Amino acid sequence: MAGITREMREQAREELGWEKRDPERYDVDGIIRDAWINGNGSEETWKAAVEKHYKRFMVGDWVRVTVQTEDGFTEHHYGPIENFRKANGNHYRRNVTNPHSAFLHPEHTRSHVVPLAELVEEINDFEIVTEWSQVHKGGPQHNYGVYHCIGMHGPYPPPATVMVIHKASGRKKRFCDNCNTPQQRTGLADEALFYQRNLKSTILALRADPTLITGPGADPREVWEKAPADEARDFADTFPWLVPAPAAELYQQWKEEQSRACAAA
Ligand SMILES: [Zn+2]
Repeated sequence: MAGITREMREQAREELGWEKRDPERYDVDGIIRDAWINGNGSEETWKAAVEKHYKRFMVGDWVRVTVQTEDGFTEHHYGPIENFRKANGNHYRRNVTNPHSAFLHPEHTRSHVVPLAELVEEINDFEIVTEWSQVHKGGPQHNYGVYHCIGMHGPYPPPATVMVIHKASGRKKRFCDNCNTPQQRTGLADEALFYQRNLKSTILALRADPTLITGPGADPREVWEKAPADEARDFADTFPWLVPAPAAELYQQWKEEQSRACAAA
């Protein structure tokens, strides 16, 4: 491109580095053109150019696709971007500057061509706790209160350094820095998805009749088996994030009534 020299590229990359940005995630030539060649080189022009030429998604990035199933469930599927596509689904022949869609092959679903506007960075779905005292809160006594990384380490796993929390389910796993990868994190979300799929009939029953959860329990002196309401409540205690909102609300009220009744007795 006319006017852009190797020195300019080096300087731009260096400046991005000082700002703790990864030059690979920016269209460096675009920034130089907007900030230094067509622009006046001021700090504001630079900032605007950097923002404009940020590549939110790159090949290899792990992303989440949201899928609606026919029976009314929302599923989150994860996979790496394999390549970019035009709006009509075709490949780009040359450099991709403003891609329209991404092609991915999530592990638990068919392949997709998804507009970038519908993609979410996988990291957005997780909270990463790094504070040692929080990561190891309630840690195992036999190991001086220190949790091991649960990644693939063989017999001598290192201590965990992070706790990854899947925001949608609240499920947690502890990893070392090396194992805190998109694959390991999305594995946690995949497990939540399998629970949702396996417990579909219970969720549908509670959707159809939320009062199921406040129904009478079995009398343990008379029958050994649990009543459907007991099972619904066990389910809600184990998988709170899967309980449909109306049932969750009724169950909350029910628990408050129970504790009032206990206090009065
Ligand atoms: Zn590890």
